[in-house]
Amino acid sequence: MEKMNPNEKTGREPNRAIACTVSECAHHAKSCDYCALEKIRVGTHEAHPTETKCVDCESFACDPSSCGREGSAR
Ligand code: SF4
Repeated sequence: MEKMNPNEKTGREPNRAIACTVSECAHHAKSCDYCALEKIRVGTHEAHPTETKCVDCESFACDPSSCGREGSAR
């Protein structure tokens, strides 16, 4: 019997250099708390960021199966 690939369900290979818990993102590895992209872009929505909550992953794309919003990926 063929060995089951843990990513077979999603086809997403986790990038272990990018830990992420946002499983609602289309780029999330799903099988574990990592991003599946090769690289991401991080930015801020604040003029002068001072806290973690001021910083965003700008590579986020809504996963319709998780967040239920179709066509909102950017
Ligand atoms: S793109 Fe950003 S939010 Fe989405 S899985 Fe990767 S690190 Fe997380």
